[in-house]
Amino acid sequence: MKPTYDAIVIGSGLGGLTCAKRLADADHRVLLLEQHFQLGGLATWFKRGGHIFDVSLHGFPYGMVKTCKKYWGKTIQSAIVQLKNIVFDNPQFSLTTSFSKDDFIRLLQERFGVAEAVVREFFITIEGMNFYDDQKLRTFELFERFFPGRGDIHRLLLEPISYANGSTLDEPAITYGIVFSNFMNRGVFTFEGGTDRLIGLMEHELKNLGVDIRTSARVERVVLNKGRATGVMVDGKYIPARAVISNAGITNTVDDLVGREVLSENFCERFAQVRVNNSSCQVYFGIRKGESIPDIGDLLFTSREEQFTSEALRDLRTKSRTFSVYYPKTRPDAPPDYTIVASMNANFDDWARLNAHEYAQEKEAMVERCLADLERYLPGVHSKIDVIESATPLTFQRYTLHSKGTSFGTKFEGLDISRSLHKELPGLFHVGSVGIIMSGWLGAINYGVIVANDVDSWLRDT
Ligand SMILES: Cc1cc2nc3c(=O)[nH]c(=O)nc-3n(C[C@H](O)[C@H](O)[C@H](O)COP(=O)(O)OP(=O)(O)OC[C@H]3O[C@@H](n4cnc5c(N)ncnc54)[C@H](O)[C@@H]3O)c2cc1C
Repeated sequence: MKPTYDAIVIGSGLGGLTCAKRLADADHRVLLLEQHFQLGGLATWFKRGGHIFDVSLHGFPYGMVKTCKKYWGKTIQSAIVQLKNIVFDNPQFSLTTSFSKDDFIRLLQERFGVAEAVVREFFITIEGMNFYDDQKLRTFELFERFFPGRGDIHRLLLEPISYANGSTLDEPAITYGIVFSNFMNRGVFTFEGGTDRLIGLMEHELKNLGVDIRTSARVERVVLNKGRATGVMVDGKYIPARAVISNAGITNTVDDLVGREVLSENFCERFAQVRVNNSSCQVYFGIRKGESIPDIGDLLFTSREEQFTSEALRDLRTKSRTFSVYYPKTRPDAPPDYTIVASMNANFDDWARLNAHEYAQEKEAMVERCLADLERYLPGVHSKIDVIESATPLTFQRYTLHSKGTSFGTKFEGLDISRSLHKELPGLFHVGSVGIIMSGWLGAINYGVIVANDVDSWLRDT
């Protein structure tokens, strides 16, 4: 390691990796410290019984193509491919869509009987939304304005976005509108070769640029001198830097790495309002080598719940889940592998309060429910499965350290805290999932670029 750095990035989520890359591009000396043994944060994967399971590669918007081309290069950009068949199946409707604007305009008219003028006006409204808009309008009010009393349409529009970033009907409509119109741009995309390939390519880029990377390196504290960040403590060792960028969750950054006692009263008051977003559960199924399954679509939004509610979506025993089906085409260079990942939104506390026995029982029951649901789309699949693994909010917390195992950072108010941290404590910046808009693969990477620009200006000015 070098004796001192221009910038230390704490955490290697997509936001941290991108921030490190942009700072190295600008010729700064960068150290990246990750507490896990693997880079990527929630953009992660694991191996079991000869299968590779992707954890958060279910789909992202077309905007990733432009963002990756501009900030990560052509090799990464050219591996982004569209998921063609998105399936919805619930008691209110069953349909297959490309999840593009044209297809939604068609569906809203033909399947849901809405007048063309209303549909077009809805799209004009959400496409016109931006960060500086009125934040008082709630998503529910937005939906009611265009589709009053149409719970089925509310479900079509919100359910996928709830899975993508934990949005609820009560949140500011802009957080919904920005993310929904990102997806509506062209549909849902994935990374050919899997998360392991993407993160491997990113690591390669960073090393080529001279970024020092240390894994299994948990930062204990951000060191401050007269209210200014001067470095970090890792394993009892002080590493100095002119700027520190935390990609740890914003609540962890404030409470664990800094401490509220060094922050102003006003900041602490605003920080106390920050709500962390929900967490997730997942069940992973590996299909025995030599077996195959038919194409049932790439991403299935399924539910046996009569109506959509955000509470039911996160319930401990939810009847709603997505299935991401990974066919061999997803990993063209590897031996054929079929895997299926069931994902559910979840409340951390529902799982954290269980004792060890109840926890094991609930986990097993969750696996059984997922399997029974999967059988509805792939009859007989049970006999083809040779690996089953599962994750709960406690798993996500364990591997990322995030408060309450949050999958999507914080609700909207976290954005202001993240953006104003460096004004409170000069030299300390935050990057990573906040405010719904800056979360997800695209949001985290874009935020990495924004924060790198702030840090670059700070380094040049001081
Ligand atoms: C189940 C699930 C499914 C998802 N599906 C999708 C999807 O389909 N599409 C999509 O776009 N997004 C999806 N997401 C969200 C997306 O993965 C995240 O929003 C994004 O990857 C977060 O990036 P980040 O930069 O905020 O950092 P994170 O990924 O949160 O990483 C933070 C990193 O900081 C490290 N860290 C924390 N504290 C310390 C410390 N003290 N010292 C050193 N290191 C530390 C952690 O170990 C971690 O590596 C999903 C998330 C989950 C959980």
